[in-house]
Amino acid sequence: MEVYDVTIIGGGPAGLYSAFYSGLRAMKVQLIEAQPYLGGKLNLYSEKIVWDVGGIPPMPAGQVIQHLIDQAKTFQPTIRTGEKIDGITKETDGNFQIHTTKGSTYLTKTLLLAMGNGILDPIPTPFFTNNGELLNNVHVSVTDFEAMKHKRVFISGGGNSAIDWANTLAPIAKEVILVYRQEEFKGHEAEVERVLSGPVTCILQADLISKKLTPNGSSIETITLQDKETNREETLSVDEVIVCHGFNRKNELFEQNDVGLEVYDDYYVKASPQTETAIPGVFALGDAAKYPGKVHLIAGAFHDAVNAVNAAKTYIDQQANAMGTVSTYADKLKPKVATVWEQYATEQKNK
Ligand SMILES: Cc1cc2nc3c(=O)[nH]c(=O)nc-3n(C[C@H](O)[C@H](O)[C@H](O)COP(=O)(O)OP(=O)(O)OC[C@H]3O[C@@H](n4cnc5c(N)ncnc54)[C@H](O)[C@@H]3O)c2cc1C
Repeated sequence: MEVYDVTIIGGGPAGLYSAFYSGLRAMKVQLIEAQPYLGGKLNLYSEKIVWDVGGIPPMPAGQVIQHLIDQAKTFQPTIRTGEKIDGITKETDGNFQIHTTKGSTYLTKTLLLAMGNGILDPIPTPFFTNNGELLNNVHVSVTDFEAMKHKRVFISGGGNSAIDWANTLAPIAKEVILVYRQEEFKGHEAEVERVLSGPVTCILQADLISKKLTPNGSSIETITLQDKETNREETLSVDEVIVCHGFNRKNELFEQNDVGLEVYDDYYVKASPQTETAIPGVFALGDAAKYPGKVHLIAGAFHDAVNAVNAAKTYIDQQANAMGTVSTYADKLKPKVATVWEQYATEQKNK
């Protein structure tokens, strides 16, 4: 059976950037993603503008995914989607054998755990049906901006997601109503200030006490809130409802491995800042990892990816440079670099 130098579990930002960087360090790499699509959590907010990643102009997360995929494919890694890893064992020769839900097994010298917090399912809330399903006008993320245009959008939640959606949708919706149970919003300060001073109707310290469905039972028509201090009730008619109450995180890999992989602090893999885990040859990165100072953001995932790939390289070949240092253009990249230079030169000329 073919033996990979590196197997990456998860096709989010950490996994995709690791696929690129593994190629840069001339390793044979495969990436395995449980979902039928790549991009990880960014698919939850594909229409949201991402503007806090160094060097990338503000753009929808969906576009960030596309750039990540393009870059990941530079060195033609093997990418498998729709295949969940559900078991890891160690062979006597030191290689890892990984098992997937498709019944496949693969051999690899090193493993990069870029699986975020496993498979995410929205936390059930009263906005869902009794079976935990979403009603027609209830969303846990916005993937279609058009559907929000000129609508009365009700957003439940008070963290970064809820606040980001409120600010993003305010210019296109007829009205945005942001409702949170607590006294204060919890998002980034500048965004909280924007939501409080802009056109969004903010209602704090309110509980949802009932919802009325449309006659065919498929959508929410009105929502009744109760002020926690005064007990005053208010009924709001709504067109669309966005629920930002977080996700349940399921990661069966912690139970289904015989290499000593253990859950740490509820959801994470304990790692060193260089991404090493307690298991030699296994590295944890991105949202999956936790160590002092870990940043659970896209930029943090990239930083981890470089460390994890370099660590995998020296695990396999102790003579290899510990760092990739400054990247030079590999042959595979030359045609792309030439096109980018041409575009840049034309832009400069036309300025
Ligand atoms: C609503 C929201 C908005 C955000 N906004 C921003 C923002 O504006 N800027 C920013 O920097 N960050 C933002 N973040 C955080 C950012 O998305 C994460 O830090 C980033 O996605 C982490 O990347 P990752 O690759 O480590 O994990 P993930 O993106 O979670 O990807 C992990 C992947 O692993 C796969 N996987 C899991 N288990 C298995 C398995 N057993 N087998 C195979 N595949 C598996 C999952 O399906 C998933 O695709 C936001 C997060 C959320 C939830």
